[in-house]
Order: sequence, then structure tokens, then C-alpha cells
Amino acid sequence: MIRIEDYAGVVGRGMVEELFLLARHLRGKTIQNINSTSVGGGVAEILTRMIPLLKQIGVDARWDVIKGNERFFVVTKKFHNALHGVPVEISDDEFDLFLDVNRQNAADMNFGDMVFVHDPQPIGLIEKRGIVGGQWVWRCHIDFSHPDRKVWEFLEGYVTRYDAAVFSAPAFARPLPINQVLISPSIDPLSEKNRDLPEKSVSEVFERFGIDRSRPVVSQISRFDYLKDPVGVIKAYRIARRRVDCQLVLAGGGATDDPEGPAIMEQVQTEAAKDKDIHVVFLPPSSDFEINALQRGSTVVLQKSLREGFGLTVAEALWKGRPVIASAVGGIPLQIAHKYSGILTHSIEGTAHWIKQLINEPAYARKLGENGREHIKNNFLITRHIKDYLLLFLSTLRKGEIVYLDQ
Ligand code: UDP
Repeated sequence: MIRIEDYAGVVGRGMVEELFLLARHLRGKTIQNINSTSVGGGVAEILTRMIPLLKQIGVDARWDVIKGNERFFVVTKKFHNALHGVPVEISDDEFDLFLDVNRQNAADMNFGDMVFVHDPQPIGLIEKRGIVGGQWVWRCHIDFSHPDRKVWEFLEGYVTRYDAAVFSAPAFARPLPINQVLISPSIDPLSEKNRDLPEKSVSEVFERFGIDRSRPVVSQISRFDYLKDPVGVIKAYRIARRRVDCQLVLAGGGATDDPEGPAIMEQVQTEAAKDKDIHVVFLPPSSDFEINALQRGSTVVLQKSLREGFGLTVAEALWKGRPVIASAVGGIPLQIAHKYSGILTHSIEGTAHWIKQLINEPAYARKLGENGREHIKNNFLITRHIKDYLLLFLSTLRKGEIVYLDQ
């Protein structure tokens, strides 16, 4: 088991001591996280890593996942797409179904002193607040820069009943009558997905998937989701291939709250079938070791998202010192300063151009990767994230009090 003390080797002893100090002031309070999936996607990834660490520093942290049938997740995926600016029609029946499922979940759940609700799927649980009390914070992980008006207006009626809303990037802040807090997500440097790996293990994984490491490998490791633009990735690779030899790896799986994954994966497989240098790898849940090896062994890592909340996959690849080419959307520009800690692009052609450049200029690519790793180390590791959350919990639960941290 990874111990919180182990992080001192990465971020220094002072940071770990600070976490213990802050946690002491939350004794006796229950912090309940609620989201809609226990596997797949960035939110589950963060909660899986963070809850055990919070417990180790003495915080009574819990994690509940709301239950819903297939129809519910079709509706919430529509919400998700609409909030990301994709045109979708949502009927009154679908809004009603969304609320019914939230109400059923609220009836079955025990709530903590602090209820930390992640993303839109469980947002309606706030209706229970009048009965159960507590402090409620809504944690939004998605790209809110161009939300669909109808869906946003519906959700706004719930968001405004929370004590505060937390967003991942300044661009997502909205005019709201409640406090808004900016907290960026993080990766765990000691997890199976991000810890150092011997070269031998990296090569073994590439061999297992039939990928030739003696030629350049360009990869995107992401859920098969329209907004991650896997088809755009194939198009960019095809343009780059005219100028430089390379192979493409598209690896990923799905999430239990995302019903669209299989259809997108099929579309990608059809596109890829025409080219033996495109490797489509289906990753079941708990493929952390494989993801680690694929990211580490790639010549260039892509994240060509059309919209992105934060983009943990970018932080993961940068942490491994990989040169990353990613779209300038959502939280990605927080992680990549263009031409310094990676490359930001806006189009298929731009992505293709930079694939060719980075493969042809390995020294420059290496420098981008080194700067990227340093940037992630200073800003986006789990210890900083826990500290921000502890401060948020303290300021919400002990509102109006002066908390003397040295006592
Ligand atoms: N991930 C995974 N398996 C997959 C695809 C992605 O474990 O098949 C992980 C990925 O490594 C990252 C997270 O899921 O930790 C995705 O987070 P991100 O913020 O990049 O995007 P999201 O999927 O939340 O939109």
C-alpha cells in the first residue's frame, strides 16, 4: 500500500506535514463524495487515488456512486454533450427521468456533513438538503466554456442551491450568486499508472500489443468518445505519414456512465482497418500498468480533444517526460505552455504538422517533455490537490470561524 509519507520523496516533507495539519481541523466531520461511475474517466481516477490518502491523514472521506439505468445514462450523456456545445435535443420526459433517478438515489443515501457532488449526473440530490442539512459543494469537472442554454438553465436552478461551485479552469467560471472556487485536478505520481517503470516492462507491453518500438509511435490514450476526436487523430496521422514514418496507437476503453463508447470504437476500428500501422487497443478497466507503459514508450503523445474538462491524460504523459501535442481546449492550456512544455494545436493540419516536427527533432521534443514534467511536478500532483480540497472543506464547514492552524 502507498503511504502518504511516501510522497515526501516527490514533493518534500513540508507538504505532507501541511496535509496532516489541515486534516486535524476536520476531525469529526464526514466528507462524502458522490459521482456517477466508479471506473472510467478522470473523476473516478482521482477519487480512487484520493479517498485512501484522505483517510490516511485522518479525514473521514467517503465515496458513493449513484445508480441509474441505461436510459438515465443516455440522458446524462446528452447533457454532457450539450454542455460541451454539441447540438442535442432533450425532451421534457428526459428531464423528468433525470430528476426521478436523482430522487430515488437521494431516498436511499445517507449524507455526510460535507456533501461534495461531482458533475451534473447527481446534481439533483441537492433537493434533499432541506431535510438532511450539511454543507453542499458542486464540483464541475467538465468544459463549461460553451454550454447549451437550455441544459445550463435547467442545471443552474440546482447549482445555485449549493454553497459553492468548484471549476477546473478560469474559463469555465459563470455568473453565479454562489461562491466559485478554482481547483485544478491532479495525477498521482506513485500510482500504477504513473510510477517509474523499467524499460523492460515498457517493451513487454508494446510487444504484447504487437507494436514495433524501433519505429516512431504516436499515441492517444483516451476513452472512445466523440469529444476526444479519435477520427480526427487518424486524419492527422495520415497527413503526417506522408512526410514521416510513424505508427499510430489509439488505446482506451469506456466508462460505465458513457453509453456511446462502443459505437465510437466501432467507427475507429472501421477507419483503422485500412492501415496495418494503426493499432486500436481496447483497454479494460484496471489497465493502469498498460497505460503507463504505452505513454512512456510513445515518441509523441496526442490529446486531440474537441472539448476537455482538464485532460488528465495530458498531465500523465507530461509527467513521464513525453512531448505532448494537445488541443488548446478546456484545462489543457493550464498544463501546456505552447512550445515550452508541449504543443497546443487548433486543427487536424496543425496536429499533423507538429507530429512531423517532433519526430524529426528529437532533441526539441525531449526538451518539451522535460519542461512538461517540471510543470506537472510543481502544479498538478495529488498532494497539491488534496491541500486545495482540505482548504475548501475547512472554509465551507467552518465558515465564519477563525481556524488557528498551529493548534
Ligand atoms: N483512462 C483509463 N482507461 C482508458 C482511458 C482513460 O484508465 O481506457 C484514464 C486516463 O489515464 C485518465 C482518465 O482515465 O487518468 C481520463 O481522464 P481525462 O481527464 O483525460 O478525461 P475524461 O475521460 O475524464 O473525459
